[in-house]
Amino acid sequence: MDLRIGVIGTGAIGEDHIRRLTDVITGAKVVALSDINIDRAKKIADQYNAKVYVTGEEVIAAPEVDAIVIASWDPTHAQYVLTAIKARKFVLCEKPLATSAEDCKKIIEAEIAEGKQLVQVGFMRRFDRGYRQIKSAIEDDKIGEPLLLHCVHRNRIPGPKHTTEMSIKNSVIHEIDVLRWLLGEEYKTAQVLIPRSSRLAADGLRDPQIVLLETQSGVRIDIESFVNCQYGYDVQCEVVGETGTVRLPDPAAIVMRSQGALSYEIFSDWSDRFIEAYDIEFQQWIDGVKQGMVTGPTAWDGYAACITADACTEAREKGTIVPIEMPECPQFYSK
Ligand code: NAP
Repeated sequence: MDLRIGVIGTGAIGEDHIRRLTDVITGAKVVALSDINIDRAKKIADQYNAKVYVTGEEVIAAPEVDAIVIASWDPTHAQYVLTAIKARKFVLCEKPLATSAEDCKKIIEAEIAEGKQLVQVGFMRRFDRGYRQIKSAIEDDKIGEPLLLHCVHRNRIPGPKHTTEMSIKNSVIHEIDVLRWLLGEEYKTAQVLIPRSSRLAADGLRDPQIVLLETQSGVRIDIESFVNCQYGYDVQCEVVGETGTVRLPDPAAIVMRSQGALSYEIFSDWSDRFIEAYDIEFQQWIDGVKQGMVTGPTAWDGYAACITADACTEAREKGTIVPIEMPECPQFYSK
């Protein structure tokens, strides 16, 4: 039987996930949705034959809905996740789990109180083939112990509501999660450097930024965040180990020889670049939920990422190196 999904938020990624759940994923169907922009929700509901609700809370409570996808604006995530936990429904929440570690902690406490893991966070890079190959190379000792990581996260242009803080809490949070997963350890300190800003950045937006993280074992990580790079969506990651290096492959694209140049296309956004990762993430989520399990990144991973993102924000605001205090992971979340 198909798992009946309710989707909250039908903007760019919400609509893409509805398409994915309908056309690509097996064992699921979208039956209900909501968006603050009701006209948009109605249009998409008509297209996919789903029922429209006015609020996300109504989607969660709907008796015909088995599990929830949250793809609304970041500040709404925590409230919907808490409501889904109360309703004892599985929920895949787009990153970030919340806009502060404090709100993530409330989610952790609620989930533990319910006595069942219900929450998965949309850290889809863990399902990307390139990152998985890097993880295997590290675990199979192909490059020795990792020492340094050099990462780049560039977007062509930011959304109209983008802020300096969001470059880390909404965007670099992907690196914060995937690098913690790649290395299998927590962070110790955070620092943020602010170079001269691009003249193309909106007033008040500091862009680019450089995030420097240090792990518990002393691995040093630099992440360039540049949300206004203009030329495309570009994610890079190189791990330097004791005996070799490994780096993310450039996404598969045709190579063209034309007009005196050798070239290939660079994707313009995340939806194409990580399309395979999202598909795998959703198929595994549906398969796990049908068995009553969360198999992907948990609420604890969402919490750990937000603790780190909050430390980065403090580091940027104060212009200092900030220690990262990571609480011990409760037994409830240890796999
Ligand atoms: P978007 O296009 O702005 O869509 C967000 C949608 O949620 C909009 O339709 C917005 O309406 C609606 N919304 C706002 N408040 C709401 C509420 N209280 N209840 C229900 N709907 C509400 O943004 P997006 O790019 O799709 O991003 C949505 C979420 O997905 C964000 O949290 C983002 O971080 C995440 N995301 C994740 C990835 C990834 O790689 N995993 C990629 C992109 C986005 P209005 O437009 O009227 O405000």
